[in-house]
Amino acid sequence: MILYDSIPVLMYHHVMPVTSSLNITPELFEEQLSGLKTNGWKTLDSKEFLYFLQNPKESRKKCVLLTFDDGFVDNYLYAYPILKKYKMKALLFIATDFITDLDIKRENFIAMPHKQMWKIAFSERNYEVMCTWNELKEMESEGVFDIQSHGHTHKIPDFIEKANYAAVENDLFLGQEFLMKYLNKQPLHLAWPKGVYNDKVMRIAVKLGFKALYTTQRGANVYDTFHIKRLAVKCKGRRWLNKKLMIYNSSLLTKIYSKIRF
Ligand SMILES: [Zn+2]
Repeated sequence: MILYDSIPVLMYHHVMPVTSSLNITPELFEEQLSGLKTNGWKTLDSKEFLYFLQNPKESRKKCVLLTFDDGFVDNYLYAYPILKKYKMKALLFIATDFITDLDIKRENFIAMPHKQMWKIAFSERNYEVMCTWNELKEMESEGVFDIQSHGHTHKIPDFIEKANYAAVENDLFLGQEFLMKYLNKQPLHLAWPKGVYNDKVMRIAVKLGFKALYTTQRGANVYDTFHIKRLAVKCKGRRWLNKKLMIYNSSLLTKIYSKIRF
């Protein structure tokens, strides 16, 4: 049996100077990126990643995909300059209903824990904690963040629970429409909000044209484009990350490791 290399996909939410769940501090984020650079890792964009999954025989040694969920403004303020400094790229999955086209000055941004930001994201003050279209445009035009879809309202898990599949379809469709309208692109990659999905919504996403679907489960990525596995990044430095990458770059080690873990 031939075992092709797996491409590790890392999942980040926040990069900011605060102690919080789903957050890594700018110092440790920089340490991780500099570790990637030193060890010869190459960050992919959505097209390259999809190509590798569709062509598992192609060598993908030391290729890694960085992903960010939701589109919090700290991604613009802290992650973006560090990624740019190391000439690295990442995917950013945005829920388009959080995004405004206001022109916001960010000097007054105070980092706060995830829960607090999440609450504001669902209020009329969402522009205080989420990126704006202008900020997203800037990051994409600099070749740093490749913006992709996280639906429109981030409420797909609720719709699935109520078996309201028309609402799921509408939400995914609106997410595409907004990205088309503001960034002039059709997103082909979708990260399921909260990692919740089932076969029915997968079929809806594929019908709408999505080619790559991202979960929040850990595992290897060799050729399956509809169950992309991601590793939630901890607020830790390069040694932690190197160890994880070594495991998740090998489909064999990933298999063994997941057997030990669960
Ligand atoms: Zn999310």
